[in-house]
Amino acid sequence: MGCTALVLATTALATGTAQAHGRDTARQTLARGDGWASATTGTTGGAAAERVFTVTTWAGFKAALAEAGTAPRIIKVRGTLDADGADCSDFAADGYDFARYLADYDPAVWGYDTDLEAEKATAGTQEYLRDRSAAAQAKAVKAAVPANTTIIGVGRGAGITGGSLQINGVDNVIVRGLTLESPLDCFPQWDPTDGDTGNWNSEYDAAVVYNATHVWLDHNTFTDGDHPDSTLPAYYGRLYQQHDGELDVVKGADHVTASWNVFEDHDKTLMIGNSDGAGATDEGKLRVTLHHNLFRNLVERAPRVRFGQVDAYNNSYVANGDFGYAFGIGFRSQLVAEKNAFTLPRGIGAGTVLHRWNDSPVTAEGNLVNGVPTDLVAAYNAANPAAPLSSGAGWKPVLRTQVDPARVVTRVVARGAGAQQLR
Ligand code: CA
Ligand code: CA
Repeated sequence: MGCTALVLATTALATGTAQAHGRDTARQTLARGDGWASATTGTTGGAAAERVFTVTTWAGFKAALAEAGTAPRIIKVRGTLDADGADCSDFAADGYDFARYLADYDPAVWGYDTDLEAEKATAGTQEYLRDRSAAAQAKAVKAAVPANTTIIGVGRGAGITGGSLQINGVDNVIVRGLTLESPLDCFPQWDPTDGDTGNWNSEYDAAVVYNATHVWLDHNTFTDGDHPDSTLPAYYGRLYQQHDGELDVVKGADHVTASWNVFEDHDKTLMIGNSDGAGATDEGKLRVTLHHNLFRNLVERAPRVRFGQVDAYNNSYVANGDFGYAFGIGFRSQLVAEKNAFTLPRGIGAGTVLHRWNDSPVTAEGNLVNGVPTDLVAAYNAANPAAPLSSGAGWKPVLRTQVDPARVVTRVVARGAGAQQLR
């Protein structure tokens, strides 16, 4: 066993992660030094597996994940797995009626002062039935990933629609080569107290890393696919938001590398840390490396950071008019953003790349905005003089294997990122 592991590790070192022509990508490990997931024990996923599954259905995929034990496993995904079936009505509890839900909680009736938590606990109410329906959907669309697993797409068009990968409380997971179409929550909850005029909130990130360690997400495409927010209706004057995040890294998760992914067509994209009050689990954790990812046509959170030492280098941002911000500077975040390239449309300035949620220092060096070397902190501060950001995250990333000059990043990432580019 030691011998096999040594050969694999050597192979990964010699070839890097992006150029491995002619090898079995399912047995690749994260190269030594390639971001935070390579720290300490590194990330090998199921590379040494004797158990190799090839799945073509969501049920088959969940069965492969559920097989007992933590010996390494490889799950090859062929074609698109449909996690949520044809119709939301499959999950609806008896008596749930959305028209009645809308009538019962219309702000003209219910107001904006009282949340629905007590309703949820009261059998027979529409909020209770909505919650029961949501539980049925959650059971169907969430897939728990065990330790020592590689999940990899094979062939063209491999991926999952409507599913939520739960990498929760485990170590050593690799996810590669999948197109992950964001799950649509069939049963968003109306929260009248969220903001001044209420909001619809949804569950289900396409993937969540929750209290898990050594996770490598590589060459995946995260997208809203056929269901962008622009196709969603509005009720009570608010967007009926059926999406949550594309990727969340939360609750003590640590040692994550996300490389060569596409994150596209989404609002709240990538959240690292979900609460200012999570210091007990998150302080000193949430260490994530993001490199050579394409962030395209997004609104915000690419990523939004709390607590973590996050290293974002060589990422390409291609924005449209929906762009809100890229890097959200949150509570006790320690973001380093170097040699990224931003392509912003006319009318959207470099001062929007950063967003201050909290006065945490940030290192931003060597970045280009529309080809022009730009100090992102200075640009932010020029646009927001009343509440400036300070420079200097206080640490220096060393776990990098391949740093490209910023001027080639847009091109290199366009050519190499995403599920179809895994070779
Ligand atoms: Ca479906
Ligand atoms: Ca989430």
